Amino acid sequence: MNSKPKVVILATGGTIAGIAKTGTGASYDSGKVSVEALIEAVPEASEIADLTGVHVASVGSQDMNDVIWMKLAAEVDRCLGDDSVAGVVVTHGTDTMEETAYFLNLVVDSEKPVVFTGAMRPATALSADGPLNLFNSVAVAASGKARDHGVMLVVDDFIHGAREVSKSNTLTVQAFESPNLGLLGAVHFGDFRMFRKPQKVHTSRSVFSIKSMDELPRVEVVYAHSNMKADLVHAAVQCGARGIVLAGVGNGNASAVAIEALAEAARRGVVVVRSTRSSSGAVLRNKEIDDDANGFVVSDQLNPGKARVLLQLGLTLTRDVTRIQEYFWTY
Ligand code: GLU
Repeated sequence: MNSKPKVVILATGGTIAGIAKTGTGASYDSGKVSVEALIEAVPEASEIADLTGVHVASVGSQDMNDVIWMKLAAEVDRCLGDDSVAGVVVTHGTDTMEETAYFLNLVVDSEKPVVFTGAMRPATALSADGPLNLFNSVAVAASGKARDHGVMLVVDDFIHGAREVSKSNTLTVQAFESPNLGLLGAVHFGDFRMFRKPQKVHTSRSVFSIKSMDELPRVEVVYAHSNMKADLVHAAVQCGARGIVLAGVGNGNASAVAIEALAEAARRGVVVVRSTRSSSGAVLRNKEIDDDANGFVVSDQLNPGKARVLLQLGLTLTRDVTRIQEYFWTY
C-alpha cells in the first residue's frame, strides 16, 4: 500500500530546468528540462512523496505573463481541489518568482501548501542547487505543518513568504531575502521548522478571483531617479495604463514634476500607487507627500513588482482609491 503524501510538481521553466554546454558554463538555455526529467533527477524526493508532474510553460521568468499566470492558477486550484493531493510545488525562474508567487498568494483558493522553487545554477552545473531545492520543496509541500502559511518560496534552505520575499542577488545561490518581516521557516535536507505565520490575508481568505478572466488590467511601473522628468508618466497614461506604480525614492517620493504628472493621472482616473525602489521599509501615507490631496495610494511594504500585482487584481474589482488603499493594508 502506498501511504506517501501526493505532491504535484508544476513546471514553468527557469534555470532549474536549464542546460549549459559544460558544468561551469555561465550561459545556458533555461526551461529545457522536462518536468519528468526534473523529478527523475531527484529520486530522494520520490521516496518522501508520490510525485506527478504537470508541464505549464517553458519560459525564462523574464517572459512570464498574465496568460501563464492564469493557466498556472487554474492548474494549482485543480490539483489542490483533489482530496488526495497534499500540496503542490511550482518550479519557476528566479527573476520574477516573487511576482508569480504573490499573484498565487492572492488568488489560490486553498490552505494546502503551495511552494515555489527554482535554482540559481542550471541543472548541468557543478554544485547545481536545483535538486536540493526541489527535495526541500517537496518535503514542505507534502506536510500538514506547512498548511495555511500562504504561498511560500523554498530556496537555499530557507522558507520565505510570497508577500515578503525578494530576489536580492543576481548570481549567488543565496539570492533571496525577506527584508521587512523575516523568514517563515528553515529547512535542512527535508527536515523543516516554521517560525511564524503570515500576518496579511492570503489564499482561501482573499477576495480576489480570476476564474472568469483571460487578462488583467494594464499597470505600468515608473522608476524614480535624480532629475526625473514627467514624460514616462505621460507615456504610461497614453499607453492605456489603468494603474501606475511609482518605484519612488525613499518613502515613495519623486521629483515635483513627476508627482504633478501622477496627480494629473489620478485626476483622470488612473490609480497611482506609491512604492519604493529602496529594498526595505514601508511607504507611509501623507508624510512626505499629501496622498489625500493627490488621490494616491501607498504600497505599505510591497515592492514595485508586487504592488503592480495587487493593483492589477484590485482593479478587477474597483477603481475606488479608498478601497484599493484598504487592499494594500490588508494583503
Ligand atoms: N532569467 C531566468 C529566469 O528567471 C534565469 C534565472 C533563474 O531562473 O534563476 O527564468
